[in-house]
Amino acid sequence: MSVIKRKETIQVMVGDVAVGGGAPIVVQSMTNTDTADIDETVDQIDHLNKAGSELVRITVNNDAAAKAVPYIKEKLINRGVTVPIIGDFHYNGHVLLTKYPDMAESLANFRINPGNTGTKTRDKNFTTIVEQAIHYDKSVRIGVNWGSLDQQLLAEKMDVNNTLSEPKSAKEVMFDTMIESAVRSTELAKDVGLGANKIIVSCKMSHVQDVIEVYTRLSEVMNQPLHVGLTEAGMGMKGMVASSAALSVILQRGIGDTIRVSLTPQPGADRALEVEVAQQILQSLNIRSFIPQVTACPGCGRTKSTYFQELAEEIQEYIKESMPVWSKTYPGVEEMDVAVMGCIVNGPGESKAANIGISLPGTFEEPKAPVYIDGEHAKTLRGDNIGKEFKQILNEYIAKNYSNN
Ligand code: SF4
Repeated sequence: MSVIKRKETIQVMVGDVAVGGGAPIVVQSMTNTDTADIDETVDQIDHLNKAGSELVRITVNNDAAAKAVPYIKEKLINRGVTVPIIGDFHYNGHVLLTKYPDMAESLANFRINPGNTGTKTRDKNFTTIVEQAIHYDKSVRIGVNWGSLDQQLLAEKMDVNNTLSEPKSAKEVMFDTMIESAVRSTELAKDVGLGANKIIVSCKMSHVQDVIEVYTRLSEVMNQPLHVGLTEAGMGMKGMVASSAALSVILQRGIGDTIRVSLTPQPGADRALEVEVAQQILQSLNIRSFIPQVTACPGCGRTKSTYFQELAEEIQEYIKESMPVWSKTYPGVEEMDVAVMGCIVNGPGESKAANIGISLPGTFEEPKAPVYIDGEHAKTLRGDNIGKEFKQILNEYIAKNYSNN
């Protein structure tokens, strides 16, 4: 469905999920529970997976978290949840992965941050983690992050830069170091004996232009599958817009095999919002479809009523609530387009372009709402039950066009 030409990358398996090598771009997320709290972590992994997260990462930061991992895995399996779990390691991954074999076995992938594996023993600790990945036949993600960039490597690059007749800016040296850290760590992992088909790479930054530049350059120098995301994207609207802006440009360049939207949730907000945003980015770019799209006009002075906004929202909610059942019963329904429009100016046009659309009357228009199905005027609704009747037409359309019977 997409016109984007994706960069060819090596395929890496994370459990039973393929990343790269032409596989669909995978949506992933991360829990924010205390991993040692087994039940809370199981609930959130289950919730994120049900929302569409195809991989879920959990922090493994201490003994209690490491001990909890096998129980988390077991409880998920008992619930029928088989989503691959990625362990996120910093500072002590080499210790925990050696000390807790059941934990290592339970995970599908180890995330290693090369900037956080130690100062004097950086390569030794990194090597230990890679050896554990080889031993347990797991893939890894070499996850470089600008907030925890390898300071030793950065200092070396700065020293070299200072000797140049035309030194680069500090920012350029930082970009170079991000990429070199990723490349160097990938080569080291391969030297230790880890296959190229076991290594995913990421280079996350928190500013849109920076992350676009770094991923574009990274993609030019390696064929490993890339995990793409804007790190510390921020809260609410800012986080969603910044992530969309960054990911859209990177994905449009054919770069990226798995994505995460790192939103800071509002207190008490649903963690799965980040999954919904990631799916929406992929669907808006015509890369993958997850849920029928509702096209609605913004409204203007031609319609004083808020009815069409309410109907658009009602239809969108109805689709969202129905998708767990529809996705099983009506394969392909996720590609359906629905239009809910506010007046005659663009209403019939947009409605005809959708699979099914309704054009509501504007302020001075006759109180009738024509419904279009596959470009043809099918029916005209009037009165107080337009929403209910439109949903009924929608149900009939789906049953007729997407049924697998
Ligand atoms: S379709 Fe009509 S109501 Fe909606 S934005 Fe366009 S002119 Fe305004």
